[in-house]
Amino acid sequence: MRKFTLGFCLSLLVAGAAFAAPGSVRCGKLLDVRSGQMLSDQVVSFDEVGVITSVAPVSGSAAGAVDLSKATCLPGLIDVHTHVTGDPKSTGYFGLGISVPRQATTGVKNARLTLRAGFTTIRNVGAGDFTDVAVRDSINAGEVEGPHMLVSGPALGITGGHCDNNLLPYEYHRVGQGVADGPWAARAKVREVIKYGADVIKVCASGGVLSKGDLPGTPQYTLEEMQAIAEEAHKLGRKVAAHAHGTQSIKDAIRAGIDSIEHSSLIDDEGIALAKQRGTYLVFDIYNDDYILQMGAKVGMLPESIEKEKKLGGLQRENFRKAFQAGAKMAYGTDAGVYPHGDNAKQFAKMVEWGMKPLDAIRASTIHAADLLGWSDKVGALEKGHFADLIAVEGDPLSDVKVLESVKFVMKGGVVARNDFAK
Ligand SMILES: [Zn+2]
Repeated sequence: MRKFTLGFCLSLLVAGAAFAAPGSVRCGKLLDVRSGQMLSDQVVSFDEVGVITSVAPVSGSAAGAVDLSKATCLPGLIDVHTHVTGDPKSTGYFGLGISVPRQATTGVKNARLTLRAGFTTIRNVGAGDFTDVAVRDSINAGEVEGPHMLVSGPALGITGGHCDNNLLPYEYHRVGQGVADGPWAARAKVREVIKYGADVIKVCASGGVLSKGDLPGTPQYTLEEMQAIAEEAHKLGRKVAAHAHGTQSIKDAIRAGIDSIEHSSLIDDEGIALAKQRGTYLVFDIYNDDYILQMGAKVGMLPESIEKEKKLGGLQRENFRKAFQAGAKMAYGTDAGVYPHGDNAKQFAKMVEWGMKPLDAIRASTIHAADLLGWSDKVGALEKGHFADLIAVEGDPLSDVKVLESVKFVMKGGVVARNDFAK
């Protein structure tokens, strides 16, 4: 029965329609992420469009259900900060030789890796030439396999800033696609990226690590520019994510009404208090520091980038702990692309190492991430009316969060993408 259902779904996928067949999954354990309770022997049922119709205790034999009776089920995970159209080696000068179509095919590869790692929803924040729009649309059309995606297209930023392209000398006249200086130019850029398919707006509020010639601690966009961006985006029904390492840039972005602060590295007590007061989400990508320091030079990251990371990584982790203890809202975002896609779950253990309980880290990647995306009614929990996005692991993620690094079963919208238990 299960084989038939899966084959049926695959044939529909090939035909270009990403519909599931109605079905059900039987879970030995199921984590209710809202209550924090681990429930026993549950059946999750879903309809032909891949939406959950019920979550209930097993009654009878649960015949026909996908058998996960020896596993622990959780909602599909969410990563709110990815770059699927890039790989670690796409940074620095090597990246200049990668064509736009090649970036899109890299995105197809990484979308599949991400889904198979248990991340059924991602927010992609920054991709040149709207390659992330193409990957999203291809997934939604059922042509390729990947998570639900919210995408930004090119990130907005100032001339010479983190979101410009500063690698080539003047005579090449190279300008990043998201560069817009001044409030009205920035508003026009918001309109432009939405015109070409952006679900969310990404801006660079401060300097960055992987960019040439700028400093992570210094502000880039002004308060006035970010107010214009946030107002324009919100008016058009989009949220805004701001790349911000620096103390002042974080506060400017929060005051401007931006919805999430990415990296948040040098946030101070005032910034944490402001984030709490405004309900701004903080997204700390605290795993990738390890990768940049170990592998950055080998994959072609600039020497100045490695130096910047050395100064920033430790402080970011300490500030993550502070912000969490202060009760700021936090969502799970990794900056995958800076390190290999498919390793998105490696950040859970870091979050636990730096002060969270496993349940807090899982909530950051489920209900809290869903809230940030504005998708609380669709993803982040196994509940009636939500997408049938479900993963399963061996063992108890509440006692050992590392089990999330080896997800054995992934279903997105009622379509099974991976089932190692059936092998
Ligand atoms: Zn990023």
